[in-house]
Amino acid sequence: MTPTRSRPSPQHQPRRVVVLGASLAGALAAAAAATSAPGRTVTVLERDELPASPRPRSGVPQGRQPHVFLLRGLLAVEELLPGFRDDLRAAGAVEIDTGDLAWNSELGWQPTGRPQFALLSATRPLFEDVVRRRVAGLPGVEVRDGVRVEGLRRGGPGGPAWWVDLADGTSVAADLVVDATGRSSRLPGWLDALGVTPARVTDIDARVGYASRLYALAPGRVAPTGVVVQQSPGEPRGGLALPVEGGRWVVAGVGSGAQRPPRDDDGFVAHLRGLRDGALAEIHDAGVPEGEVAVHRQTGNRRHHYEDVRDWPAGLLVTGDALCAFNPVYGHGVTVAACEALVLRDALRRGLRPGRERRVLRRLAREAAVPWAIATGEDLRFPTSDGSPPPVSALLGRWTRQVGLLAVHGDELAHRTTSAVYHLMGPPRLLLRPGLVAAAVRARLRGFGPATERPVVVRPVGVRPVVVRPGADGAPADGGHDAGRAADASPAGR
Ligand SMILES: Cc1cc2nc3c(=O)[nH]c(=O)nc-3n(C[C@H](O)[C@H](O)[C@H](O)COP(=O)(O)OP(=O)(O)OC[C@H]3O[C@@H](n4cnc5c(N)ncnc54)[C@H](O)[C@@H]3O)c2cc1C
Repeated sequence: MTPTRSRPSPQHQPRRVVVLGASLAGALAAAAAATSAPGRTVTVLERDELPASPRPRSGVPQGRQPHVFLLRGLLAVEELLPGFRDDLRAAGAVEIDTGDLAWNSELGWQPTGRPQFALLSATRPLFEDVVRRRVAGLPGVEVRDGVRVEGLRRGGPGGPAWWVDLADGTSVAADLVVDATGRSSRLPGWLDALGVTPARVTDIDARVGYASRLYALAPGRVAPTGVVVQQSPGEPRGGLALPVEGGRWVVAGVGSGAQRPPRDDDGFVAHLRGLRDGALAEIHDAGVPEGEVAVHRQTGNRRHHYEDVRDWPAGLLVTGDALCAFNPVYGHGVTVAACEALVLRDALRRGLRPGRERRVLRRLAREAAVPWAIATGEDLRFPTSDGSPPPVSALLGRWTRQVGLLAVHGDELAHRTTSAVYHLMGPPRLLLRPGLVAAAVRARLRGFGPATERPVVVRPVGVRPVVVRPGADGAPADGGHDAGRAADASPAGR
């Protein structure tokens, strides 16, 4: 993520970059290409007709489901598109602080009311709309929608490296192609047709399903800034609720295997009522449902090991879910796509010598490595997954639950550290810091102390929320939030 200082090498600057897919990974890759060298053309090809205003679309069916945008991802997007958070806020995104989330795990409730990481919450279509508008305005960028990519052909000597074939029979010339067509990427088949060695693929699928619906809720009715009832191997049903633009909340049920929430209204509500805590059912009861329940069940972790392919073609890279897709319950996908875009930007700034693509693919794979270990290590604990966690991961998982126990009993360092690792702001080894080991030993000897009480979730009608008034210097009088401020980004503590 650190900006490179090496001098650009003009002879290795691809002039024509073609990005396949205009969702988040594609748009952010286009931003990376457009901002890494002047004079380049960046063409983004998207099969959907892109909506004029933020709306779910068929090419991104997960757009109806809740999306959590982790702090590391927000910071990476801001680095690519300075002023992005202001734009997102102006478009209606809701400011939330992770320290105010009502988060219930199998271990209990996390403490609330301690400022932590300041985030922005919005529907996925709004987030994508703001990103794409910014990217479409960058010099050299053209977004062509309603065009389906059907295949790739190598160019001949003296010509472009690639021809990208479209469904309408035309082709687009490219010096560099970036595949960002998501989980359903057809790149493996296209490479096969070109005679390239197939890449190994790793699949780990906990068979998680989502069902979600929007609710209109009177401002201030829900006390926390978001609610999570986390599923666990012992209780594979959970859910979450997040405030989004327009005074609405998106409420989702989540479950694994036979516990996946259904699409029908009665079944969806029964799922919410059947959770170990009634917080989400309370929000359902307090709100007015808007529209149908939308389900999504394509959620397995899938990683293509393209970096291992020795005869990998020059002028071709892959990003986002097309490279590595995660079980979405951990909220990693957008953040990894944004971090991968920074890797791409830095590689292009240095100059991408043909034949060096595997180096870049290795760097991209490194961006996905920690989220992959977190998501798969956890998913392999679920009986719905095939396999079991490797011993190191199982050990780390047991220790993480110790840290989680400290957190639900009010240990601030444990709470901040867990949050930092979840938001990819620090490596999992932070969980081994001496302060936490000492706290765990103390808890073993003296007990954990009282568990955190269940927070109030829905305020009774007529009870007004506390109003945060700006201080004389314009700062909130209660020491409130400043999205993404550097101090918040540090998990520092004992
Ligand atoms: C249920 C669910 C919930 C999620 N929640 C979160 C979350 O909380 N936080 C988070 O960070 N991530 C979340 N994700 C993951 C996140 O949605 C993705 O990681 C993110 O959208 C990046 O995906 P992408 O751009 O690589 O692919 P996609 O978003 O899938 O986009 C692929 C694009 O390529 C286009 N395309 C495909 N084929 C072609 C073709 N042949 N020609 C032209 N265009 C094509 C598609 O139309 C689409 O626009 C969630 C995912 C799911 C399934």
